[in-house]
Amino acid sequence: QSAFATALRIPKDAIFALTAQYNADPASVKVNLGQGTYRDEAGQPWILPSVVEARRRVHCQKQNHEYLPILGLPEFRKAVPKLVLGARSFDRVSSQIASCQSLSGTGGLHLAGACIKRFSSLSPTIWIPEPTWSNHHLVFKTLGFQCRTFQYYDFESKSLDMKSYIDMLMTAEPNSIVILHACAHNPTGCDPTKEQWQEIGNIMKRRQLFPFFDAAYLGFNSGDLDNDTYAIRYFVNELDMEAAVSVSFAKNMGLYGERVGCTFFVTHGSDVAGNTESVLEQLQRSEVSNPPAYGAKIASTILDDEGLTSMWKKDLATMCSRIEGMRQALYDALLANSQLIPRQAAHN
Ligand code: PMP
Repeated sequence: QSAFATALRIPKDAIFALTAQYNADPASVKVNLGQGTYRDEAGQPWILPSVVEARRRVHCQKQNHEYLPILGLPEFRKAVPKLVLGARSFDRVSSQIASCQSLSGTGGLHLAGACIKRFSSLSPTIWIPEPTWSNHHLVFKTLGFQCRTFQYYDFESKSLDMKSYIDMLMTAEPNSIVILHACAHNPTGCDPTKEQWQEIGNIMKRRQLFPFFDAAYLGFNSGDLDNDTYAIRYFVNELDMEAAVSVSFAKNMGLYGERVGCTFFVTHGSDVAGNTESVLEQLQRSEVSNPPAYGAKIASTILDDEGLTSMWKKDLATMCSRIEGMRQALYDALLANSQLIPRQAAHN
């Protein structure tokens, strides 16, 4: 009898399985609509000009391959909450922030989740929108959270199901955690308006629900960072709420495979922030010892230089306008060819 005889056969991840099938397909005309990775006019991966320049500067600095500290690159861990909260608000709360470099957005969700799981002041119940990015369930279930769902999207009216959302917020047990897609809700692309975010935030504050922002698309959604950080800034800066934020630079810097992320908590005190950061540090030590250096150096080179930051903002605008144009072209082509779509398929 093998020691591995009881291993279950788990089906492959649907999105990555589709990409493998796509890569293996010899067809000359093919499009991968599964994985969310940006492509240029030639259908190729795009290396952002700001990233090309940051890479050049990193290489000029005679890069070595030493370990980073356990919490990650210090300037990166500082630059990310500053970018997300805005410089002025960051200055106000900087001593109350616990931050840690993470293995992109997924690693950030995991790390923040593992940290929260240790705090008896928060409930082990986590509310996840339905539909959502499928990995949310996997990450939080694996950490031992009780995952509950609420109807986020109304498929009939093709809009946010605000009634179900509010019903959930009004009945959820205090100190439960709510997963909030900071912007560009995956997979619907439907976000609350500013007024709806305000309503959501105010109820969450009143009912003592804990906001956990998944920020995987900042700046990539609208091309405008201020716009895409609206919800986080409203909750933290206007409502003065504590929060968890997991930020990914996979999409907005095109650094997918470099695994560049930062997870941070905004707390209500410098002592609790310091203690919380020590928990993050110990968790990180036990899981990956220290995070990868290269991508974080590129990202912080961009974030710490005004010229490179404005170059990056232009890159964001380039990606957004192309995505928008492609979507419109697809929509127009589908409409123009709708008579070719079998009736059954058109309804699904
Ligand atoms: N959250 C959401 C909603 C996502 O769509 C993604 C990427 N598809 C992630 C987090 C994390 O991606 P990564 O780990 O590559 O940063």
